[in-house]
Amino acid sequence: MNAELPQILNYIDGKLVAPLSGGFIRNIEPATGKEYSLIPDSGPEDVENAVLAAKAAFPSWSTTPYTERSCILVKLADLILENLEPLARAESRDNGKPVSLARTVDIPRAESNIRFFATAIVHFSTEAHIMEDSAVNYTTRKPIGVVGCISPWNLPLYLFTWKIAPALAAGNCVIAKPSEITPYTAFMLSELCIQAGLPAGVLNIVHGTGPSCGNAIVAHPEIKAISFTGGTATGRHIASIAAPMFKKLSLELGGKNPNIIFEDCDFDDMLRTTLRSSFANQGQICLCGSRILVQRSLYARFKEAFVAKVKQMQVGDPSLESTKMGAVVSESHMEKILSYIRLAEEEGGTILCGGRRVNPGGNLSGGFYIEPTVIEGLGPNCRTNQEEIFGPVVTLQAFDDEEEALKLANATPYGLSATVWTSDLKRAHRIADKLEAGIVWVNCWLLRDLRTPFGGVKQSGVGREGGFEALRFFTEAKNICIQL
Ligand code: NAD
Repeated sequence: MNAELPQILNYIDGKLVAPLSGGFIRNIEPATGKEYSLIPDSGPEDVENAVLAAKAAFPSWSTTPYTERSCILVKLADLILENLEPLARAESRDNGKPVSLARTVDIPRAESNIRFFATAIVHFSTEAHIMEDSAVNYTTRKPIGVVGCISPWNLPLYLFTWKIAPALAAGNCVIAKPSEITPYTAFMLSELCIQAGLPAGVLNIVHGTGPSCGNAIVAHPEIKAISFTGGTATGRHIASIAAPMFKKLSLELGGKNPNIIFEDCDFDDMLRTTLRSSFANQGQICLCGSRILVQRSLYARFKEAFVAKVKQMQVGDPSLESTKMGAVVSESHMEKILSYIRLAEEEGGTILCGGRRVNPGGNLSGGFYIEPTVIEGLGPNCRTNQEEIFGPVVTLQAFDDEEEALKLANATPYGLSATVWTSDLKRAHRIADKLEAGIVWVNCWLLRDLRTPFGGVKQSGVGREGGFEALRFFTEAKNICIQL
């Protein structure tokens, strides 16, 4: 291990500290395959310190007027905006995503998350239920206490802030763990929290692996709720520990989202958006449409136009402004994606374009690059069309009518999101109603209003984030009934 590399530190009790064990993990830059910083390999003892700090901070933070909590969070949002450029560069370097994407999507969204919940708490209210002239019920919603937030690597600061913002705004103290694969911007955020004047112990960011640090958060008896975003298998494991402890759980998990294209769609708009929904962030967005279902009458035209566009997409250096597709996040993830492409061939699929690792040469020759890949000729039940690949890989399937489109769309254990392309308004409503998904986009993709409920059905998750749903999750309701 290279001790000269910059060290990321934990943020516990308002201070930046090394893990108690002194152990660090190498942080690899996906663009080059080289290590460039060190991540704390924190364990249960670091989580314990974080919980002690959070417990000590809770009585004061939970009774701080909501307007003051809001002001501190607004200050934090302002600081993210002031540091947009360094944060975007760090996110791109840590994750392999194009810097232009980090600058226009990831970091602005992190800022909006904090600002949104800083202001949402000002408008959050509780209910009263009046029983004519006999009694009045009113509901209180109090912060839960110390809560845990665990986030993945694909949209690092974006998803990290999406969890901690409502938790903090509602008056909880938080133990948060970013992915050990992309920890850098969460570390930068801890420095901004100090600048923003967030009181010590209110937010504690502990870095480390899932099995050691993450598990310690999930299993800690003083952490009363867990908000998790990540893979379905990890979510199942977390539920197996947290559910018997009766913790509140919010699980945002994997997807295998259908993109359903009818012959009456606006073809150019659909094509432009389908390129994005297939390959944005190298296909590593839980909401990407990885199964493209096309009405048979349009199939040949779509295939020709889509494949021609995909062949023009250049994979390259994420730090260049012109790059639209960068590196995938890690070597092991690259190997996983490539193994799925081989599996698709074994299952009888035809690769229409892509399918291989790319070597951009020079300093980037050790980086993790994959060509955008389009596959056809596979039925709905093969593993390629059932399992989440989470990379720049999409499959094409044809359907004849609405009924068949729905059958194909709903034919996986997942149910996160779906996209529908049609000019027929009645059909859009019919299909949207029957899709087994938590989120449906009609004639658009990834158009987000932060007030709306966000989450999946089936194996894509339990519970909803977004808007007041998130503030309800991070509070405990109590009904008080007074006889008149
Ligand atoms: P992952 O499940 O491997 O890891 C997610 C987080 O959980 C990381 O911080 C990791 O360290 C931690 N973790 C791992 N094992 C743990 C354990 N035993 N106990 C506690 N924590 C543990 O997921 P990933 O590879 O980082 O992310 C990709 C996955 O996330 C994909 O499946 C993707 O679909 C999903 N995702 C879902 C959404 C959504 O909103 N539904 C959004 C983004 C990503």
